[in-house]
Amino acid sequence: MKDNLRVVLLGVRGSIPVSGADFVKYGGSTICVLVHMGGETILLDCGSGVLQSGSLTADVQHLSILLSHPHVDHLIGFPMWPFLYEKGKQATFYAVPRGELSARKQMEALMSPPLWPVGFEAFHANLICKDILEPSIQIGSVLVEHLDLAHPGGASAFRLSYGGHSLVYASDCELSQGQLPRLSAFSKDCDLLLCDGQYSDEEYPLRVGWGHSSWSMAATLGKACGAKRTVLVHHAPQYTDNFLDKADQQLRSRYPNCTLGRCGEEFAL
Ligand SMILES: [Zn+2]
Ligand SMILES: [Zn+2]
Repeated sequence: MKDNLRVVLLGVRGSIPVSGADFVKYGGSTICVLVHMGGETILLDCGSGVLQSGSLTADVQHLSILLSHPHVDHLIGFPMWPFLYEKGKQATFYAVPRGELSARKQMEALMSPPLWPVGFEAFHANLICKDILEPSIQIGSVLVEHLDLAHPGGASAFRLSYGGHSLVYASDCELSQGQLPRLSAFSKDCDLLLCDGQYSDEEYPLRVGWGHSSWSMAATLGKACGAKRTVLVHHAPQYTDNFLDKADQQLRSRYPNCTLGRCGEEFAL
């Protein structure tokens, strides 16, 4: 596997971390994806899965984090992330401002009283927060484009491109709200699509308006945009390994190159 074009799923659970014997294969850590691309190390969100990044970032001095939105399942990993307690390391967080909240304020909200005992001064690494104010930014040689998603409070999809390869990360989003054509155009012909597929097709009708998609909705997006591979993430916390295994088999038979993401799974672009 070429190390400069590598994607690792560190956490694929949505809403809240879960643990126990029923959650071993797909993992209980909330959403976090590690991307090695164009010489850069980039994390997509910073859920509790970031704590699985240890050996993968041991030799990395500087990395970037793209925050889709400040819901707690996407941020809960960073206050106890060992990387931020190491002198000489640097982490740059990027986020689209949400209302009055800059990127920094979105993160500070979690590390402030009464929710947390210490603030950013506890970190030994150099932590930088940058607002995304343009339609696209460069992280080194990687082009990062973003798109607003249908989700309570808003969220951003990201498209990362380098050397003719691209991946799209679209969690959290509800694809029923006129979102499919826009997100399909944004994701056109990507190599890897990581898409919110939180709910079974049976459960989704009970959760309309909650800001998440069903398995079929996410798979339909993958087909519509021509993604070479579609991986569903942000699994509902109550879905066990057995339940997700059955769904994964059905999905593979109905939609070629579409699967449910598992914690620790790797992809080479
Ligand atoms: Zn979420
Ligand atoms: Zn959310």
